[in-house]
Amino acid sequence: MSSTTEPTPRPDGPGASAPVSGADVLVVGAGLAGSTIARELAERGGRRVVVLEARQHVAGNAYDVVDEAGVLIHQYGPHIFHTNNQRVVEYLSRFTDWNGYSHEVLANVHGLFLPVPVNKISLRLAFGKQRGDELIAKLVGRFGDGEKVTIRQLREESDADLAEVADYVYRNVFLTYTTKQWGVGPDEVDESVTARVPVFISEDCRYFQDAHQGLPVDGYTALVQCMLEHPGIEVRLGVDARQVFEFGDGEVRVGGEPFGGTVIYTGPLDELFGNRFGSLPYRTLDFDFETLQQDRFQPSGTVNYTVSEDFTRITEFKHLTRQDAPGRTTIVREFPRDYVPDSTDEAYYPIIDPANLELHGRYAELASELPDFHAIGRLAEYRYFNMDQVVARALKLADRLLAD
Ligand code: FAD
Ligand code: UDP
Repeated sequence: MSSTTEPTPRPDGPGASAPVSGADVLVVGAGLAGSTIARELAERGGRRVVVLEARQHVAGNAYDVVDEAGVLIHQYGPHIFHTNNQRVVEYLSRFTDWNGYSHEVLANVHGLFLPVPVNKISLRLAFGKQRGDELIAKLVGRFGDGEKVTIRQLREESDADLAEVADYVYRNVFLTYTTKQWGVGPDEVDESVTARVPVFISEDCRYFQDAHQGLPVDGYTALVQCMLEHPGIEVRLGVDARQVFEFGDGEVRVGGEPFGGTVIYTGPLDELFGNRFGSLPYRTLDFDFETLQQDRFQPSGTVNYTVSEDFTRITEFKHLTRQDAPGRTTIVREFPRDYVPDSTDEAYYPIIDPANLELHGRYAELASELPDFHAIGRLAEYRYFNMDQVVARALKLADRLLAD
């Protein structure tokens, strides 16, 4: 099989589907989940793999591209790779070197820039050194130095000083940002969401404390292209799998005939089954990119607007990519809103709650009736996964499939 990741869309219909029927494995989606599994099954399993990708590019939401000003940007929002999973690091490091970037975020609180996650430095800036140190001593006494405490946990504290910290952080860091991001306040989102950004009783200003973090030196698109560059893999861009395959009634068919191979599906399950039980809700983002004729725009990779503005955050890509591009820089503002099904919206954030998980479970049950069909990834599993988690799951699935 030939291997190409160039944007060469093929026509849909029988012409596009005929060669697919000869493949051992169909992978739907060339994001990190699909690309990892494609590589594993082709390389370790010697399988002939066809990857169908609806977009005109690989890498899914991690896709990056050089903009008109020559600045490398992340088309679907800022992506920082971070993990404690050694297998994932070693695996991806076969295809890329890392740039060593360590992500730092500041909250803009009425013009005061506080490190996020809120830490000892943030508290001294917010409360002044003396009062800040008193509050820090209380936090250390209650939770321990170096510990992380979620805003939910902190708000349960009855001690007046701890309640003061909780109230400040809640009002100035979480309330407005979360309401913008999710359309509801922090008490109405799943606890796991705000727990991603705990208060950190430390002076460590890194956003992530994982053992490994950074960006691929040549970007995520180059990384994924390298993963897909294998003689057993053929990539077809601009092809929606639903136009080539029929999924349902316990069968996957191509050109009217049952497809006898393995199917790896990384798209949304509700779409796959015609939204028959209703659409799974998501939050989406409108991105506003702007190029400025200056070296630098802001002091850190991302600034969160936690008490003002309609957008949640501004990211300046040159911090993340460490690109040397004198006299120009590109920033992006993120405006969250509800995702509209069957539109051009991108489904970015699953909304984790019992009803939505139950709805997803009904689709997953339909999927489980399809032979040798495996739903994996942030969309297909309707989970708020980071990139490393998706790669880890794809590696595990490959282990399982290759052991069969
Ligand atoms: P995706 O990247 O969504 O890939 C799925 C692919 O399948 C897409 O390319 C889609 O076009 C294709 N597809 C779907 N249906 C079909 C079909 N019917 N036919 C053909 N193709 C189809 N993670 C981090 O680790 N660090 C971060 O800093 C980070 N920042 C993020 C910021 C934002 C704004 C968002 C939205 C996510 C962020 N993530 C981050 C999460 C990260 O994007 C995901 O974990 C990862 O991209 C998921 O990979 P995936 O392969 O599961 O899905
Ligand atoms: N959050 C917040 N204020 C912040 C940072 C995060 O309220 O300054 C909350 C918000 O609800 C957000 C969640 O914590 O959706 C998780 O933040 P994270 O940075 O992990 O979100 P992502 O980068 O995935 O959009």
